[in-house]
Amino acid sequence: MDWGWTEEQEMLRRSLAEFVRTEVTPNALAWERAGEVPRTLFTKLADLGVLGLRLSPELGGGGHDFWFTAILLQEMMRCGSIGVPVAVMAHAEFATMLIDRFGAPELRQRYVAAAASGQMIGALGVSEPDAGSDVAALSTRAVRDGDDYVINGSKLYITNGSIADYITLAVRTGGPGHRGISVIVVPGDSKGLKRQRLQKLGTHASDTAELFFDDCRVPAANLVGAENEGFRMIMSGFEGERLVLAVMACAHARLTIDEARKWGHDRRAFGQPLLGFQVWQHRLADCLTAIEAAESLTWRAIDLYVRGKPAQSEISMAKLFATETARDVARECAQLQGGLGYMEDCLMGRLHRDSLALTIGAGSSETMRSIIARANDLTAGDA
Ligand SMILES: Cc1cc2nc3c(=O)[nH]c(=O)nc-3n(C[C@H](O)[C@H](O)[C@H](O)COP(=O)(O)OP(=O)(O)OC[C@H]3O[C@@H](n4cnc5c(N)ncnc54)[C@H](O)[C@@H]3O)c2cc1C
Repeated sequence: MDWGWTEEQEMLRRSLAEFVRTEVTPNALAWERAGEVPRTLFTKLADLGVLGLRLSPELGGGGHDFWFTAILLQEMMRCGSIGVPVAVMAHAEFATMLIDRFGAPELRQRYVAAAASGQMIGALGVSEPDAGSDVAALSTRAVRDGDDYVINGSKLYITNGSIADYITLAVRTGGPGHRGISVIVVPGDSKGLKRQRLQKLGTHASDTAELFFDDCRVPAANLVGAENEGFRMIMSGFEGERLVLAVMACAHARLTIDEARKWGHDRRAFGQPLLGFQVWQHRLADCLTAIEAAESLTWRAIDLYVRGKPAQSEISMAKLFATETARDVARECAQLQGGLGYMEDCLMGRLHRDSLALTIGAGSSETMRSIIARANDLTAGDA
């Protein structure tokens, strides 16, 4: 699709396409088996100048807008293993953008520069066993003690959680509700931090962990922004995260339908290719129409976002529609591959399996619908 990319963006796309073809795709299945991407993936992306595309240029980032991140995602998704871009995004976008945007100069110098060069890997820790969609209910507590905060509690489903050198952590520093939340950077080697890798259904190349904080002491200077101002920061970060998921979903659906098209032409049943049956022509036509609509919504949301316009409703619509489209397209296209579509060593089977994570991460479909309803005067009563 040609959206009038600049020469600089086209160059980025070409170098990424080559990198993914030679360095990522051949290794993606081994990384899935290992349950994580290697640290060298981050340093190689940094050497290519694409790891911290949106991070500050004076700290080694690219200083680019979200369109560059979209290109990175489109190309990385071609490797067929969603966990690979998820690990990179959890580091460069989710964990580090918050520090870069809201952190004090010394904190940014310590973490953002190391993140942009791939020397350190980050994770974002918001979700908890008893607070997922309802971020304002989180209970991991940080209590000020001299020059430190002492943290107690736990976090669940944290991408890069086992491998991270720092965790950008949402903690409760004040009273109940959204006003008592802060963000603090926890060094990975902090005493009192324990990690447990989780076994997921898919997206195997990204590590996901549960984190436990037991009297974990962190310098007070690691606070990001002001105390009790964390909820606003986390919510503004969610906009970028949801766009990431929307772009990934569009690319995932494109890859899926391209696989289905090839299979539909090649595989024969009852004397003709599967795409000789009108039922499959129509089902894939519906899939393609939904993908085009998802891309249009997503590109519009990105356009508003990069121009600094209010875009919460459009971003939520894009995230909702694109991720549900990717899931539905994957289900239809896996069915087209019959028994093969249910096999682990079949790309379509893995695309189907991985698509299930898209409608949950960075805010579920139900959360997206609630935001859209609130933003468009579609609520009444206590909602
Ligand atoms: C692969 C993966 C990676 C992740 N990575 C990270 C990460 O790096 N960092 C991080 O902090 N978190 C991460 N998460 C957590 C993710 O953000 C949460 O799973 C998500 O926000 C939902 O929270 P929950 O799982 O606690 O579900 P719950 O909040 O318990 O919700 C359960 C179900 O109820 C629905 N529901 C909730 N509230 C309402 C409502 N008001 N109305 C109707 N339905 C509702 C939800 O939509 C969902 O379907 C990850 C999750 C996954 C699966």
